[in-house]
Amino acid sequence: MLSMREFWNIVSISLCVQAQISQQLSDTGHTWNYDDGENDWSKNYPFCGGTHQSPIDIYSNIKYDAALTPIQVVGYDSPGIDHFTLSNDGHSVKVSLPATMYISSLKHKYTAVQLHLHWGDQKRPQGSEHTFNDRRFAAELHILHYNSDKYVDSQTATAKEDGLAVLGILLEVGSFNPTFENIQKYLSQVAYKDQEVQIPAFSIRNLLPVTLNEYYRYNGSLTTPPCYPSVLWTVFRQPVKISQEQLFSLETALFSSNVGDSIPQPMVNNFRQKQERAKRELLASFKEDFTFPIAIAFILGIFVIVAIIIYIIRKRRARQQSESRKRVMYAAAQKAEGTSSIEI
Ligand SMILES: [Zn+2]
Repeated sequence: MLSMREFWNIVSISLCVQAQISQQLSDTGHTWNYDDGENDWSKNYPFCGGTHQSPIDIYSNIKYDAALTPIQVVGYDSPGIDHFTLSNDGHSVKVSLPATMYISSLKHKYTAVQLHLHWGDQKRPQGSEHTFNDRRFAAELHILHYNSDKYVDSQTATAKEDGLAVLGILLEVGSFNPTFENIQKYLSQVAYKDQEVQIPAFSIRNLLPVTLNEYYRYNGSLTTPPCYPSVLWTVFRQPVKISQEQLFSLETALFSSNVGDSIPQPMVNNFRQKQERAKRELLASFKEDFTFPIAIAFILGIFVIVAIIIYIIRKRRARQQSESRKRVMYAAAQKAEGTSSIEI
């Protein structure tokens, strides 16, 4: 005979297992894409319709936090292995990273898992996820890490509040990027979904901005289903440059569909729209440089004042000229009246 306590233990274990199974199904049992509108994501992935979602527009009400010290990464220069695995998961192109790489400057040790990219298309080559005052950059690189102090692997950490940390690097068009080429030149070998290839390892540090001391920080989520709100975001202020040709290649080389599918689906515009920031704190590791905007505002202000003064002077002059013309005409009319009376 079971005691009441044992009975409830069995019930709760059973419910827990069921919840885990349905959770796994919801993680893997549904397809999703960017085409049909991201609003549908929350039907199968409830967190996508929840709070603390990413990306956000980085603008206004940003608080400087002196405690945000420069990001320190370990093993980024020399990952300690010969090869990375480059793969196409149907949503992005991904590089698997070794556990020798980690972030050492956060509250916990966050170990690298993978990096991937988001981009636009040829018609609209702006596909970053985070925006600065609604300015969208050409593309965005994400380096995903998990809290290895507290969790055994990234799968365990992914839904935990302090489970993940992502470094976000904005990409803009400029000079040729030789480090990016280490990924770029193998894209054609992972053109279709589920394809993967071994590529020579290279310094991931060179994909990051030169200095790692200026960044924005907020609490957000994965930007793809299941959208767990478990990410400590670091978005670097300084973008990294790739060439026009390199961006073009990223926008055209890959497909979301499997090899041999009758209608190949180009992998483009794989970025999520901005999410509500609500009352979330957005911190910066640096003080905004207000010199330039203030100088522009000052010059514009002077310009407007001068324009108003010129307008007033011209208006007054026009009025004076009109009045003096009236006086001349009046005097001429009086003179004419006088003459005619003499004539009569
Ligand atoms: Zn991403």
